[in-house]
Amino acid sequence: MKRTTGQDRSITRNWRPATQAVRGGTWRSEQGETSEAMFLTSGYAYDDAATVAGRFAGELEGMTYSRLQNPTVAMLEERIALLEGAEACRAQASGMAAMTAALLCQLSAGDHIVAARAAFGSCRWLVDNLLPRFGIEGTVIDATDNAAWEAAIRPNTRVFFYETPANPTLEIVDMAAVNAIARAHGITTVVDNAFCTPALQRPLEFGADVIAYSATKLMDGQGRVLAGAVCGTAEFITEKLMPFQRNTGPNLSPFNAWVVLKGLETLDLRVRKHSENALTVGRFLEQRVPVILHPGLECHPQHELAARQMDASGAIFSVVLDGGREQAWALLDALKLIDISNNIGDARSLMCHPATSTHHNMGAEGRAAMGVGDGMLRLNVGLEDPADLIEDLDQALSAAGL
Ligand SMILES: *Cc1c(COP(=O)(O)O)cnc(C)c1O
Repeated sequence: MKRTTGQDRSITRNWRPATQAVRGGTWRSEQGETSEAMFLTSGYAYDDAATVAGRFAGELEGMTYSRLQNPTVAMLEERIALLEGAEACRAQASGMAAMTAALLCQLSAGDHIVAARAAFGSCRWLVDNLLPRFGIEGTVIDATDNAAWEAAIRPNTRVFFYETPANPTLEIVDMAAVNAIARAHGITTVVDNAFCTPALQRPLEFGADVIAYSATKLMDGQGRVLAGAVCGTAEFITEKLMPFQRNTGPNLSPFNAWVVLKGLETLDLRVRKHSENALTVGRFLEQRVPVILHPGLECHPQHELAARQMDASGAIFSVVLDGGREQAWALLDALKLIDISNNIGDARSLMCHPATSTHHNMGAEGRAAMGVGDGMLRLNVGLEDPADLIEDLDQALSAAGL
């Protein structure tokens, strides 16, 4: 394996993001392949016994076992770190593996975490159910209220945890303000950047500490594989995340890493088009539904904050219908082009009913507190021609009596 300029930080850090997305992190074998090679191997053979000892002691560079390092996975990790502007990154088997690792690697019994109330269902499950079983208490707050973050701090608060925009309410967290509160109290912020990816939003620029991902969504971008990643300082990744990861094994397979590497090549192109299409479709829906939650539309209460933090407004937004579950389901069942699917970040347009899918497990009370009502529908706007999407929505809205 030969390091190309793609691995040399002194060169790559000067590249613009679209260049990093295509070339960052690339290594080449002696064959000189242009596209990244896929190393489907769990183990590595050594030239001699001393090399084994040197690598295990950390004195020699090189691979030892794919739970610790794999060349294809390492290429993805370097590329994501470059895009996010982070010192280091470690890939994970899924977005939820990334969230779990990012939290458990640094929290211990007796610690306290403050988390956003509006969040992906499984992220809330970690805070509400998993962490308390290990003596880590959580306080869940309205993440759009900066004072609520400060008020929830206790002497043992170690982590702030949020996503912005939030899934599926599209609430925006004021990153600069909230991260500054955390900094002032020595608290680590963990930001779930799944909705945006670094192509749209780089939380480190707003003072965040750790970025955790689902790379399943816009990063793969074609709905093929589950993948995740955690980014942070070299110290955080080496001292906190790696001991957790190498001994618990939530690793990404080299095949899935390779698929995401291919996805990243077109990330910059895709997020722009997704955002443009989602805005076109949003402007149409704005005229036809009682409530639309879309950070790119002027009617979003935090539209200006979103514009300060995000380069464009992304693929995903929600609408709320007055007729509850019955009307929401009627609209879904009338769709002919857009799929009923709870995934996001796919090139295909997908629509789902969060109350009976992604947020089903939270219970009616939890959903009500979070603002996920029975009339809410979440839409991932894909890369199809938006005129076709609007035609499909038009007839489905009519079928649902709108
Ligand atoms: C999808 C998603 C996750 C979980 O990611 P997986 O790759 O499905 O495990 C976490 N957070 C947010 C905001 C998501 O959209």
